Amino acid sequence: MTNIRNIEAIIPPPPYHMVGDGFKVHNFFPSSRIIGDTGMSPFFLMDYNAKWEITPSERPRGVGVHPHRGIETITIAYHGRIAHHDSAGNSGVIGEGDVQWMTAGGGVLHKEYHEKEFSRKGGLFQMVQLWISLPKRFKMTPPKYQTIESKDMTRVMLKDGVSHVDLIAGSYMEKKGPASTFTPTNLFNASLKKGIRADFSFPLEYNTGLLVIEGEININGSRNATADNFVYFSHDGEKFTVEAVTDSIVLLLSGEPVNEEIYPYGPFVMNTRDEIKQAYEDFYNGKFGHLED
Ligand code: MN
Repeated sequence: MTNIRNIEAIIPPPPYHMVGDGFKVHNFFPSSRIIGDTGMSPFFLMDYNAKWEITPSERPRGVGVHPHRGIETITIAYHGRIAHHDSAGNSGVIGEGDVQWMTAGGGVLHKEYHEKEFSRKGGLFQMVQLWISLPKRFKMTPPKYQTIESKDMTRVMLKDGVSHVDLIAGSYMEKKGPASTFTPTNLFNASLKKGIRADFSFPLEYNTGLLVIEGEININGSRNATADNFVYFSHDGEKFTVEAVTDSIVLLLSGEPVNEEIYPYGPFVMNTRDEIKQAYEDFYNGKFGHLED
């Protein structure tokens, strides 16, 4: 195989931190020195809640009302259930295999919690949250919300007739995922049975990575990566292969970089320091709307 996209680094999960009291996350980027603020652009942030056994609680754990501007937040549930409410009037609950795709754009307040019944019973919890930094021309776009349930995803079956790639956004094998994106973005979940290989190809300049959610995989016939590790690819080629060493689930990300200066601060990702100051001013002046705690 020529035109191979090699591995730049396999990044083990960094020490976790808590987001509110409901999300115990390993931040793969921007905190990784290798990836930084723009190395996965248009993706700015990846918080990964590795498998965590939640003890039953009458009061759902999570994170209370907070603002966002200039980004989209994408939440992918692998185990457990998550509820969301925002000041644009959107709300939803996602369960295993489902995705919430919130465009904060010009600004929303939202809160994110374990869903009530799940919280009451407790159980296994595993999720990913991604932030996409919108390009300058879309930073202030009106807020929007897309629920993408597992059944809404476009499923591409692989040759064993069991393994498959579920498309959340972007395209694979001439099929397209349901999410609408502002810039070319691919986001897939691959579920591979032991010994099954999937081939991927993304344009050379696209920033590309994958997170092993479950199992162990081999990439390009060379290196193995196990659950909870993030594989960051080089820009030296387009094609790579993922072969399941054991039954595996893999989250794939690849997108066209947005080549603009960004200025991230707290829950905002803007292009300049002045825009960050403006975001705080607008937030304190109630311009992000209203949401009950
Ligand atoms: Mn948030």
